[in-house]
Amino acid sequence: MNRRVVIVGGGYGGTLVAKSLDAEADVTVIDPREAFYNASASLRALTRPDWAHNAVFPLENLLDHGKVIHDRAVSVDPEGVTLASGERVEADYIVLATGSGYTYPAKPRETSTSIAQQMEDLRATHQELARAGRVLILGAGPVGLELAGEIKDVWPDKQVIMVDRAVELLPGFLPEVVGELHRQLDELGIQVRLGAGLKALPTIGSGQAGRFVVTTDHGEEIVADIWFQAFGVRIATGYLTDGKLLTLTGRGTIPVTDRLNVQGYEHVYAIGDIIAHADPKMASYAMVQAEVVVKNLRAQLAGDRPGAVHTPASERRILLPLGTRTGVGQLPAAGGIAAATPEMVYQRKGADLFTARFATRFGGGRSLQIESGRAS
Ligand SMILES: Cc1cc2nc3c(=O)[nH]c(=O)nc-3n(C[C@H](O)[C@H](O)[C@H](O)COP(=O)(O)OP(=O)(O)OC[C@H]3O[C@@H](n4cnc5c(N)ncnc54)[C@H](O)[C@@H]3O)c2cc1C
Repeated sequence: MNRRVVIVGGGYGGTLVAKSLDAEADVTVIDPREAFYNASASLRALTRPDWAHNAVFPLENLLDHGKVIHDRAVSVDPEGVTLASGERVEADYIVLATGSGYTYPAKPRETSTSIAQQMEDLRATHQELARAGRVLILGAGPVGLELAGEIKDVWPDKQVIMVDRAVELLPGFLPEVVGELHRQLDELGIQVRLGAGLKALPTIGSGQAGRFVVTTDHGEEIVADIWFQAFGVRIATGYLTDGKLLTLTGRGTIPVTDRLNVQGYEHVYAIGDIIAHADPKMASYAMVQAEVVVKNLRAQLAGDRPGAVHTPASERRILLPLGTRTGVGQLPAAGGIAAATPEMVYQRKGADLFTARFATRFGGGRSLQIESGRAS
């Protein structure tokens, strides 16, 4: 009988492990969502609702042999997983890959688990955004910057102002990348206030249209018609706080070994945003880690010693499109890292925001068929 590999979380890392081992093990993926959500595409999904279906890939299309359980893990112990429904899923091997949440619309609302609801949320917020002339974005990290770029791509005449307490954009990246980013933001007419916070948040909810005034702690008044929160990653490890498997770090992350085992267990692994690791919290690193876990699990399934180790990334990479026409990036190059040209950013990410890559993982073809404007 095939060994049972239970993967908690069907995101970037979890779906890669599941797909890779589908033919060799009895694979089960647990995730409350109906579909894998490609967060890289979420901001364009907001500004172009007719394109939004490209961000979602039904989990039902992932596996030929294994199964998907649409439920939330509420506890994990060395023998298996307990679900919110009370159901128990016993496991020979467990992979924890529950990632992180981020304020909607950068990631779906936690309660919006169906594709139809996610598309409905985006349509509703799009309508709010469409009627707002002035947009305030709180947070000028990659998420806020991509949101600003996508908005300007669709509505060049909207006023977009970003506010961030940080004193520089993309700290730690090459000066020429940061310089080019400032140049492109100026060209697009995106205003950035750095080293500035707000005295109080807008009185109206994030993503809802309605005129408001806020004051920065430098005393500047900003009038806008809608605002978005673009900060605040929430590590999704609440189901481990009962301590039945491990003790989380002070940051709520999972201590792992260099083979990506949860410390103390050779049959339990953890990958992606949830691990206590020097890798940046990015999908690209979650997928590199997933490949290490696949190698180790393959060895164990074959009765061999697992030998693949993961070393933290030494270079910092990024692809940051500002809409479909421009963007900045930094990629590994001979002898280190180098700035990417806007054409490279477009070709590698900006054109389709990785849709083609995930279409392959989820059985090829389009991510989701849309009929009469409804997700199906
Ligand atoms: C707007 C935006 C753009 C981004 N763009 C990029 C990019 O271009 N490149 C890049 O490398 N990174 C990007 N990132 C970061 C990237 O999205 C994260 O690093 C990535 O999602 C982490 O992947 P993961 O596999 O750890 O988990 P996730 O992809 O977060 O998936 C976790 C899954 O676990 C599920 N889950 C959570 N809790 C439970 C539970 N208790 N039980 C069962 N299932 C659960 C969730 O529903 C989810 O499906 C972006 C992030 C945002 C917000």
